Amino acid sequence: MVAETEREDGTWFECEECGLMFDDRQDARQHEAACDAEEPAYIQ
Ligand SMILES: [Zn+2]
Repeated sequence: MVAETEREDGTWFECEECGLMFDDRQDARQHEAACDAEEPAYIQ
């Protein structure tokens, strides 16, 4: 899920999987679709 965060300098979009912040909703959703953070770390 992309989390919206309202701040003084605008609205930010955070990837809840890895915590990356984006200032553009599209960028955040695109990243999230490709984000690997969902993969369980213990498999590696
Ligand atoms: Zn991510």
